[in-house]
Amino acid sequence: MSDFRDKIRRITPYVPGEQPKEKVIKLNTNENPYPPAPEVQKIKEAMDCGTLRMYPDPNGTTIRTALAEYHGVTPDQVFAGVGSDDVLATAFLTFFAGGEPILFPDITYSFYDVWADLFRIPYKTCPVGNDFRINLDDYKEPNGGVIIANPNAPTTIYEPVEWIEELVRNNSESVVIVDEAYIDFAPESALPLLKKYENLVIVRTYSKSRSMAGARLGYAIASKELIDAMYAVRNSYNSYTLTTLVEDMGAASLKDEAYFKETVGKVVATRERAKEKFRELGFICPDSQANFLFVSHPTVSAKKIFEELRERKIFVRFFNKPRINEYLRVTIGTDEEMDTLFKNLALIIKE
Ligand code: PMP
Repeated sequence: MSDFRDKIRRITPYVPGEQPKEKVIKLNTNENPYPPAPEVQKIKEAMDCGTLRMYPDPNGTTIRTALAEYHGVTPDQVFAGVGSDDVLATAFLTFFAGGEPILFPDITYSFYDVWADLFRIPYKTCPVGNDFRINLDDYKEPNGGVIIANPNAPTTIYEPVEWIEELVRNNSESVVIVDEAYIDFAPESALPLLKKYENLVIVRTYSKSRSMAGARLGYAIASKELIDAMYAVRNSYNSYTLTTLVEDMGAASLKDEAYFKETVGKVVATRERAKEKFRELGFICPDSQANFLFVSHPTVSAKKIFEELRERKIFVRFFNKPRINEYLRVTIGTDEEMDTLFKNLALIIKE
């Protein structure tokens, strides 16, 4: 007799960072330490719960129109989803269906291999250098698609637009997805390349630079043809992914460019100071262009620092994985939070 358990799908899931209930200094999930734009709060205050009786707009017209205007594209070039995780998962399902292995770096966002396994997409990882740089030549072989995070996570390394352009040009026979979750903290986006390349998809999120991780809003920008294909896939499993409230909040956030620039600027300024501080304490600290740093101490193990910080109610991220188990990923908090971090780090290292 067969067992019903034999019919259950078993998979090793992605492990998100902890969201502790108690008050801690939370530098473990790359959230923004500042609140969203004041315009976002106004949307929540004006909300009429009576509208909940109806389904939201399945086409996400409000947010797609607002994002199209903001980025200088047309609404049919925008796909909106429940955080960029949802957008990326839909993109994997849509664009990586050719059966050939897709390519991505061995050290990158740890959801990529989980989606590939879940969707039964074959994949090959290409080792980054010891300086964490991605080698363009690795992405010249025939493939079923390419995904790169830029800046990459958790390595923090940013590749310039010319580099992305070469990657896209070298892979004209597949779709290239560039995950720009952290691009607002970096010099330049690859968005202008969309005018020249039909095989490029750019994915963005509200979770980091727009301080809206809790709203769950992300989007992709590409040609109408590719966006239509993504909606066809999404509409084959769930047509109502976004709520009206979140769409309106997302559109409101785009209205206050001054606030956006101010808060991103503050995070970048703190990041630059934090790089210096880490180096003064003897850490190796690659030149991050994201809202987090990836650091390693030559004598004190990452695991020990992680545990000691945790005891002191400071949460950072430690990945117990080959090649990066001597590194810690540290989100940029407020100046005050970072000062507390450095005071504690100095004590831990002295011990
Ligand atoms: N891409 C990268 C590289 C990330 O680090 C994250 C954050 N975990 C995401 C995408 C997903 O973010 P979200 O779903 O909050 O938009």
